[in-house]
Amino acid sequence: MRKNRTFTMIKPDAMENGYAGLIIAHIEKAGFKLIAMKLTQLDKDSAEKFYEIHKGKVFFNDLIQYITSGPIIAAILEKENAVEDFRKLIGNTNPEEADEGTIRNMYAKSIDANAIHGSDSDENAQIEGDFHFSN
Ligand code: ATP
Ligand code: MG
Repeated sequence: MRKNRTFTMIKPDAMENGYAGLIIAHIEKAGFKLIAMKLTQLDKDSAEKFYEIHKGKVFFNDLIQYITSGPIIAAILEKENAVEDFRKLIGNTNPEEADEGTIRNMYAKSIDANAIHGSDSDENAQIEGDFHFSN
């Protein structure tokens, strides 16, 4: 299968808990190559744009509050079947339902602070990567 790309963010809770290095090592061990990476922090406007698809949902305001609450690491990753394989690697949105050995199972505590993001389609991987690495 052709190599393709996905986009990830190590979220504020994982940064605060000191899990960034462990998570990046886990990602590399799983065969993903780092293409771009930066430490940054989203402001309210950027966060609302990034999560536009969730606007109107009950958890939207909490999500924006949380994702802007501290630094994140944004990265573009490359691997065969990147989007699907990375979603498997991070596990269920709710850490309590995430399989053993997944990043959310190991490093996340709750559905609203779930350690890591992974794009859900090739199209969104492109959009989200461009959003964070446009120059
Ligand atoms: P992500 O997009 O962060 O990789 P996901 O694709 O597994 O996560 P989405 O449905 O895209 O989940 O939701 C985006 C984020 O919004 C989730 O990571 C989670 O933090 C939050 N979220 C989703 N559903 C809920 C919910 N029911 N209650 C609280 N927060 C939620
Ligand atoms: Mg999502």
